[in-house]
Amino acid sequence: MALLITDKCTNCDMCLPECPNDAIYVGADIYEIDPNLCTECIGHYDTPTCQKVCPITKCIILDPAHQETNEELWEKFVLIHHF
Ligand code: SF4
Ligand code: SF4
Repeated sequence: MALLITDKCTNCDMCLPECPNDAIYVGADIYEIDPNLCTECIGHYDTPTCQKVCPITKCIILDPAHQETNEELWEKFVLIHHF
């Protein structure tokens, strides 16, 4: 499942440089996550690092519109990083 940045985002820029997949970008109003690049940090970290560094509680959540199994996330990781 990709993650989703909600409108609680204050555009603080803490998350963007931390994403190992460059999935986070500056959107029209708030920061956004490209669901095609977000792997929940699988292959890099045990937990989603953007959630870890975000200072706002429950600002970054699981995106119910992009449900994926662990297997699918691993496949995405391999595709992104060309292993
Ligand atoms: S969960 Fe990981 S891969 Fe997904 S946007 Fe956050 S930092 Fe990037
Ligand atoms: S760390 Fe949280 S508040 Fe800061 S830009 Fe990222 S999503 Fe927004």
